[in-house]
Amino acid sequence: MANLCYCNTNKLFSECCEPYILGFQKAPTAEILMRSRYSAYCVQNIDYLLATTHISTRKFYNKNETLIFASQNQWVKLEIINTSEIIVEFKAFYLDINLKSKIHHEKSTFKKERGSWFYVDGEWF
Ligand SMILES: [Zn+2]
Repeated sequence: MANLCYCNTNKLFSECCEPYILGFQKAPTAEILMRSRYSAYCVQNIDYLLATTHISTRKFYNKNETLIFASQNQWVKLEIINTSEIIVEFKAFYLDINLKSKIHHEKSTFKKERGSWFYVDGEWF
């Protein structure tokens, strides 16, 4: 069965976010990195989430807490609201542990260093 990507591009996961998550390719833009990080939440690849968080803010993320957040919610869909070179505004729709519909609305800032994009931080709405 065709496994469509979690990030709602209508592409196959294996031809969209998976090559980035598995480290076969580097995300070429901040938006593509953001999409791959959303998909990493969906497949609970916490190592990828931490590895793509900028070294200056990585210390604020705990592997176990991130895993709990990724796994206790059911990720429904991703909507990109706005994108510039270094900023991506998005809404992530999910069901929380009580199956309540929630929206995580964030404007994230990214930074490119030595050819790789990193998530730095975000403003939540
Ligand atoms: Zn994708």
